Amino acid sequence: MLDVDFFRRWIGTAAASVEREADRLTELDSAIGDADHGSNLQRGFRAVTAELQKAAPETPGAVLILAGRQLISTVGGASGPLYGTLLRRTGKALGDSAEVTPARLAEALGEGVAAVAQLGGAKAGDKTMIDALEPAVAALGTSYAAAAAAAEEGAVATVPLQARKGRASYLGERSIGHQDPGATSSALLIAALAETAGE
Ligand code: ADP
Ligand code: MG
Ligand code: MG
Repeated sequence: MLDVDFFRRWIGTAAASVEREADRLTELDSAIGDADHGSNLQRGFRAVTAELQKAAPETPGAVLILAGRQLISTVGGASGPLYGTLLRRTGKALGDSAEVTPARLAEALGEGVAAVAQLGGAKAGDKTMIDALEPAVAALGTSYAAAAAAAEEGAVATVPLQARKGRASYLGERSIGHQDPGATSSALLIAALAETAGE
């Protein structure tokens, strides 16, 4: 069973990973965007970390809802509302249980990813975070390590794609040949989940 501490550690690990990889995320965004993805997420996850300490949410769902709300209010880019929706919707789907099964988390994350796809209108292959998140959710039934590998593979597979959503889509064919920053940060989020689970 996954308890509130597991979820706090997951978000904490994701925040640490964003700190470590912020420059790389911003560099990827400088090729096909406006060079702010790393700093956007850094600002967001710092706010999440501070608020998690202050508010001390008591259930898995409350941790994710709090994190999502902070990302929406502090990340001033497309990724803020999208990641905010991912975490808030996943948190809502977990309800107010003190502990959840891995199967329940997999199902809830599936709802979260579907909400991101609905909000942003992106489908698989549009060169967005969906290209990492959808394969990750599909592999969650196997293991967290499999989900992390699928997310990373999905992120790398955005390189030859032409962006059809978000700022990178303004570049048309010139978006080809670069890895999508949001798919890359999504892979970090799922890798943090696997790391938290000890996989
Ligand atoms: P902005 O583009 O506003 O500067 P960020 O740089 O923080 O925001 O985030 C860019 C990332 O957001 C992209 O790499 C892409 O993965 C993701 N993204 C942008 N638009 C969409 C969308 N409509 N659906 C899903 N993901 C999107
Ligand atoms: Mg940007
Ligand atoms: Mg921006």
